[in-house]
Amino acid sequence: MIVATLKEIDEIRKMIDRYDSVLVVGCDSCVAECAAGGSRETMLLASALKLSYMKDHQNPTITEAVLDRQCVDDFIDQIANQVPDHEAILSLGCGAGVQALARVYRDKPVIPALNTLFIGETQSRGVWQENCLGCGNCKLGFFGAVCPVARCSKKLMNGPCGGSKGGRCEVHPEISCGWDLIIRRLDALGELDRLTEYVPPVDWSTSHSGGPRKVIREDQQP
Ligand code: SF4
Ligand code: SF4
Repeated sequence: MIVATLKEIDEIRKMIDRYDSVLVVGCDSCVAECAAGGSRETMLLASALKLSYMKDHQNPTITEAVLDRQCVDDFIDQIANQVPDHEAILSLGCGAGVQALARVYRDKPVIPALNTLFIGETQSRGVWQENCLGCGNCKLGFFGAVCPVARCSKKLMNGPCGGSKGGRCEVHPEISCGWDLIIRRLDALGELDRLTEYVPPVDWSTSHSGGPRKVIREDQQP
């Protein structure tokens, strides 16, 4: 899923202060799972904004709405009747959701309420771990399903750097060494022999470094 965090109210206020009416739109998918932009967070942000404006003796119209997915037109259409009544949209979607709303509602400013961070998983309650950089050429099969691109600070593809101590990364001791995880996992699977296979350096041309990417599937098109 996409992991994101909520911006500070002051930063959001700087972007929306110019509008008299704002539609605050949450997304009940990835950003709900990471407790940044789902129904609950949308309600809390709308309330916090109203309170913040009240303290400044201002009373803009702030309305809440939540979409199941903010990056799919079929869901985006569900706020079509609310959008015209507001000067701007404040999106609690990820960067993709913000841009999707802006593409559909062309005459409305769409403001991001979140900072979109990474592709990751919920590791435990309240802990989200980055574990995929979307490199476009997945090699997890070689590494016991632990990604060295995302989870090794040096992105090493053929073994650890030698600086790992007690299973922690020498660059960021607060995180596990990706290669420690890979080796333990392959050992548990009885597949340590995979480490004898040479894995070439990452070909970044299939990642975002090769330019904006697009997937086109004719079999999925009408
Ligand atoms: S190898 Fe690439 S696609 Fe696979 S998990 Fe790592 S970054 Fe993501
Ligand atoms: S300590 Fe481990 S995760 Fe950190 S850079 Fe070295 S091999 Fe990569």
